[in-house]
Amino acid sequence: MLKLGFDLGGTKTEVVLLSEEGEILARQRQPTPVTEGAQAIVDSLVRLRDDLLRSAGAAAGSFTIGLGTPGSLSPSTQKLRNSNTQCLNGLPFQAMVEKALGQTVASENDANCFALAEALAGAGKGYDCVFGVIMGTGCGGGFVFNGRLRSGPNRLAGEWGHVSLDPNGPRCWCGQNGCLETYISGSGLEARYRDAMRKHESETGAAAQPLLLSATPPIKSQSLSAQDILQAYNEKRTDLPHWPIVAEVTEAFLDQFGRGLARVCAVVDPDVIVLGGGLSNSPLLYEHGPALLKRHSFGGEMVTPIVKNTLGDSAGVIGAAWLGAARAG
Ligand SMILES: [Zn+2]
Repeated sequence: MLKLGFDLGGTKTEVVLLSEEGEILARQRQPTPVTEGAQAIVDSLVRLRDDLLRSAGAAAGSFTIGLGTPGSLSPSTQKLRNSNTQCLNGLPFQAMVEKALGQTVASENDANCFALAEALAGAGKGYDCVFGVIMGTGCGGGFVFNGRLRSGPNRLAGEWGHVSLDPNGPRCWCGQNGCLETYISGSGLEARYRDAMRKHESETGAAAQPLLLSATPPIKSQSLSAQDILQAYNEKRTDLPHWPIVAEVTEAFLDQFGRGLARVCAVVDPDVIVLGGGLSNSPLLYEHGPALLKRHSFGGEMVTPIVKNTLGDSAGVIGAAWLGAARAG
């Protein structure tokens, strides 16, 4: 049977149609009408499906449907929670989509869809247990065992980003302190950099100077992106006026990355760790990750490969398509 998958993002929605074997037959994307509310988003999914089927020459009812969303369904109320597309929170979103599309839909959060896609068709293919990690604005993850996604009774499997590493650590949006996400996500790394800059300024009394990563345009130190920080460290930019701060926050970031993975490995011991999200493009994670994982691991021995995804931005939508087929089967 054909497999249709949606990846509903905060800015764009993508849809794909896969063959029985997983080959991409057709795909489309369009902006997500976030400001128009939940019903407009549901209507946009119907339009995307219809357009896709027309372009692929497929018939209604000849495919399964999977949906990747930010956030997840509450196991008790079946309403969406923790979605950064906030107009959807508190709504029975899956039921709304099923009603509009006229068929059953399987849904999971985007990190789970990423993990499933990479396990079945990407860098995790051939491994029994895959831990798929998203390090982007936030930090998520998902587990796939023998080709099957593990969701769990609380739909929490793989949510390693909200395990607290330090009860006295930075406040996290989820209500806890010191969550892994406050250290190793893009937003977390940027916040730790700003903290370090403020500390440096209060200790030295020096106003922050612009940190120049390139001659034009200058990048203000306070607005340095996570990618900028990692790139500056990777290029060993010791010429930068705030190099010690870049080095300090990047080394802390890498250390927490190893510490977080070591906890996951101590509980599940996956066969492979596949990284995705914007920060997964940094070579630092693959260069330093294995040694730091080993350093924080019980027994000090660790052979688990840490690899980059191979499906790129398409992993979410492909995983959603596979999800629909898996739940239907
Ligand atoms: Zn948290």
